[in-house]
Amino acid sequence: MDCRIVTIPGDGIGPEIVREACKVLDRVAQVYEHSFHYKEVLMGGCSIDAYGVPLTEEALETARQSDAVLLGAVGGNVGNSRWYDVAPNLRPEAGLLAIRKGLNLFANIRPAYLYKELAKACPLKKEIIGDGFDMVIMRELTGGLYFGERHTEEVDGVLQATDTLTYNENEIRRIAVKAFDIARKRRKSVISVDKANVLDSSRLWRKVVEAVAEDYPDVKLEHMLVDNCAMQLVMNPGQFDVVLTENMFGDILSDEASMITGSIGMLSSASLNESRFGMYEPSHGSAPDIAGKDLANPIATILSAAMMLRYSFDLDKEADAVEKAVQRVLTEGYRTADIMSEGCTRVGTARMGDLIAERI
Ligand code: NAD
Repeated sequence: MDCRIVTIPGDGIGPEIVREACKVLDRVAQVYEHSFHYKEVLMGGCSIDAYGVPLTEEALETARQSDAVLLGAVGGNVGNSRWYDVAPNLRPEAGLLAIRKGLNLFANIRPAYLYKELAKACPLKKEIIGDGFDMVIMRELTGGLYFGERHTEEVDGVLQATDTLTYNENEIRRIAVKAFDIARKRRKSVISVDKANVLDSSRLWRKVVEAVAEDYPDVKLEHMLVDNCAMQLVMNPGQFDVVLTENMFGDILSDEASMITGSIGMLSSASLNESRFGMYEPSHGSAPDIAGKDLANPIATILSAAMMLRYSFDLDKEADAVEKAVQRVLTEGYRTADIMSEGCTRVGTARMGDLIAERI
């Protein structure tokens, strides 16, 4: 298969971790006889330095012309960087919002998986962890409360703020279809999370999700109220496969789910549009405190590249191979500094990339 990948290394540890993910992709290409063609573009602080803006129209257009985007991270030391002495729409992170919007990435997928080798870092009790957990949070990314009309006004001398939560049935349907498609590639279970006992938008959400479910008789659908879901995530995380939810609930629940895995350097993510196109990036930021020191854990980015193989290129076997290689390296006791524990072998960013690539 021939694939055009736009890479956006970004700032801080971004270039180091994207380099390792490309190393692993190159190994996949060699073993499984694919051709991955890379084009690099600037975004974030490095783009501000070069062009005065965090994302140029040319960079966005190059991303649009590709089959998928692999992003490192953008941003610098917020309290101590020239990139932040400007209006918010000119700061590095504005590039991120602009590219998500420009590419119409409405579906955000964040897996939360507990490696048994890292179970000690999980803040939950052993009896709750049980055999571990393996879920994805599917969050709607471009609608709901964060994009609704808002204003602050003074009413009878009292300040009053209003935010509006709006979803139409098309926005709900397209994310639900994505969630059911992904569930088909996994354990065939969707838990749709809403607040249908209170909110109209949630009642519409439930109705549309139920209609979509009729096209997927092989996938089990359950509904869960968001407050219950927040509790269930820390009481019985093993019950979740695909969690489907709207923007704000997903924002909160995906952070909760990632916390219980115990390590930010391991968490991948994908944002997809209506076609197979997607942008793949680690869940963490640019970690300026450890940039350029060969200390960054590249696994989140490598696992994001595995998601790219699975969701944008339909290369499930190759994605499995990357995920298994990560698992093997951990089982063999190799660790970057952030996940180091007694008795393990500490390695740097580049060596971790080599070890994973060698095991494919
Ligand atoms: P961060 O995720 O960059 O770092 C938080 C902590 O985790 C730091 O101690 C860091 O060293 C560590 N860490 C993060 N990734 C790691 C990895 N792969 N390996 C080892 N340790 C790792 O969050 P922050 O410090 O709040 O933000 C730093 C910058 O990143 C800011 O400018 C912020 O705006 C930006 N940011 C960017 C994105 C993105 O590009 N998607 C996301 C979040 C934050």
